[in-house]
Amino acid sequence: MVKGELDPWGTGSIKDYGRLQSEFGIEPVAPLVSRFKTPSPHLSRGIDFGQRDLARIIDAVEKNKSYAVMSGIKPTGDFHLGTKMTADDMVYFQSLSKKGTVFYAVADVEAYADNGLSFEQTSKIAMRNVADILALGLDPDRAVVYLQSEELKVMRLGTVFSRGVTNNMLRAIYGERQIGLYMSALYQAGDILMPQLAEFGGPKPVLVPVGADQDPHIRLARDLAARYHDEYGFIPPSSLYHRLMISLGGTDKMSKRSESTLLTLEDQPKDASRKIMAAYTGGRDTVEEQRRLGGRPEICPIYDLYSFHFARDDDHVSTVRTECTKGVRLCGECKQEAVGLVKTWLDEHHRKRDAMMNDAKDLLAKSRRYLASTGK
Ligand code: SF4
Repeated sequence: MVKGELDPWGTGSIKDYGRLQSEFGIEPVAPLVSRFKTPSPHLSRGIDFGQRDLARIIDAVEKNKSYAVMSGIKPTGDFHLGTKMTADDMVYFQSLSKKGTVFYAVADVEAYADNGLSFEQTSKIAMRNVADILALGLDPDRAVVYLQSEELKVMRLGTVFSRGVTNNMLRAIYGERQIGLYMSALYQAGDILMPQLAEFGGPKPVLVPVGADQDPHIRLARDLAARYHDEYGFIPPSSLYHRLMISLGGTDKMSKRSESTLLTLEDQPKDASRKIMAAYTGGRDTVEEQRRLGGRPEICPIYDLYSFHFARDDDHVSTVRTECTKGVRLCGECKQEAVGLVKTWLDEHHRKRDAMMNDAKDLLAKSRRYLASTGK
């Protein structure tokens, strides 16, 4: 595996998901999908393709035992369709049982180390990001949201972990990096393992849904869980990996680092429409070729819009794929249909999100009070 393909701070896309499974020991999700009563679209469409110890979470759901879902966002800008995928998985796994609690970290330390944003800037962005997840369906009654820089338990765990790792170990996982990124990786391991501290009920299964390029963070957290098992009783965190959305430019993954090829949850419908109509596709050079050879949905960001987010259901995704590959569907009409779906969704999301700004403030305040009650 080329190291750059699994760079949690990079922009590259992943070419071969099968190799991730064979080289990094990520297991396939498919054999476990039948254990979900109502699989999410990400599970049923193979967008969530890989996992480590996901069965531990399914067992907890089936046996009505406590578990946590841990995720986070780097508050560097608007929620976009790539980050929405992790949020969708988080909301889905929270919804599976009343015993599921979400821990959501706003990774402002990483935003400072990687993007140079001040903590004042990131705290404003975070509020809007939290309103977005609420609009996506997060249940605030079973969610704890916090700023990484404010949560001393995370900082303390990061400091403890810094004694258990060597430079060589971090270099082997992440490559040569500035110290700030190594530190943010240790704090992120603190985020992932914090739900298992005694203050939060002790060791329990924790699921971390992430994009496949974030696996280095998972490997580090699992390694640290094993190293510190005797001291804290940590259970290795489980993980669920989703495919990375192709940017509208057709090359890199959808990321905040390439704004012109990004669709955000903040985009006005007319801007989204313009971006989609200008997007790269997996279509052929001429209509005649497209009719004869069919399109290539596997490299098409418009197809990703349908399958990852906006198709009405699984049958709709199959129809788009079949019509595309058989040359029945042309890219212009395919984009027009996608524009209609995206505009309707954005209108609805903006309405819900704007109505939830106060709820976001309340959730952050409630979480602060709760975390303070668990001690420093
Ligand atoms: S028909 Fe649609 S899915 Fe197929 S290549 Fe064109 S835009 Fe992509």
